[in-house]
Amino acid sequence: MLQENEQNPNKHIEQTEREFGRIINAIPQNWVNKINRTHSTQAERKQTPQTSFQTIPTGSGQTAKNIVQLNTRDFYEQLRSDKNTKIPALDYWRQNLQPPPTLDQQHWKTIYSNLITNKQGDVNWKVTLRILPTAQGLHRMRVYHTNLCHHCNEIETIEHVLVQCANATRFWTFVTPYIDTISEQKLQLTNSMKLLGITELQKDGLNQVKRQLVNWLLTTARCALHKSAVDYRVRAEIVPPRSLFVAAAKSHIMYEYKRAIQRRQLQQFEDQWCTNEALARVVNEELLMKL
Ligand SMILES: [Zn+2]
Repeated sequence: MLQENEQNPNKHIEQTEREFGRIINAIPQNWVNKINRTHSTQAERKQTPQTSFQTIPTGSGQTAKNIVQLNTRDFYEQLRSDKNTKIPALDYWRQNLQPPPTLDQQHWKTIYSNLITNKQGDVNWKVTLRILPTAQGLHRMRVYHTNLCHHCNEIETIEHVLVQCANATRFWTFVTPYIDTISEQKLQLTNSMKLLGITELQKDGLNQVKRQLVNWLLTTARCALHKSAVDYRVRAEIVPPRSLFVAAAKSHIMYEYKRAIQRRQLQQFEDQWCTNEALARVVNEELLMKL
């Protein structure tokens, strides 16, 4: 009946409606009721979707469920409604990881401070974020056979390699006089400075040139201690951090000197690198090392 006039564009909508009504009337009434019931139930379902949060208590006085048994959505709903939810995995990591660093905005500036090369800055960055590879970290990753320091058999953490080990203590005794000369004894070197450098917040009375040179020296010392530990782990070679430090410092100052000569900036070089003649001095345009 509907198909008869399908090709006719002038067919009126009222005519189609009338014809459709006659088809509906031809269908038995109990069939129509059944179709209507099914349609309306589906519509209602769409309007009120089932939430998976129904089993989660949200009001006060109700007992929270064990989060281990919850699915992901319920778990986050539980976290949202109850800020004190205990997360077993977090407790585990808190017990097993080293304490988080306490840093302020100033410390981030010292990581890649002016005189520090990108490679040295990367070591600082790893120390700051506590991801510098040590025997402890590598042993946990199962890529190194022990978590102990090869000097003293204590657990080799970042602090141990850079500050606490007797090997490191001896090395810092060698480095400290250079820092005393640069700072004119104004700086009392603490373990925190050895690990993270010095910032403007220290109120040490140093100008920016001296502070940058001290941070460069501390960084070079840190890198020497780290490289000494790496050399032992990778090649079983015992290289004292002192010789690594002197070699790295000398070659870098020599590089800066040659660059300054090329650029005719010898005065700037002296102002920066020959502060108090702690590390080097220039006599008759010749570089003399103090290291
Ligand atoms: Zn040690």
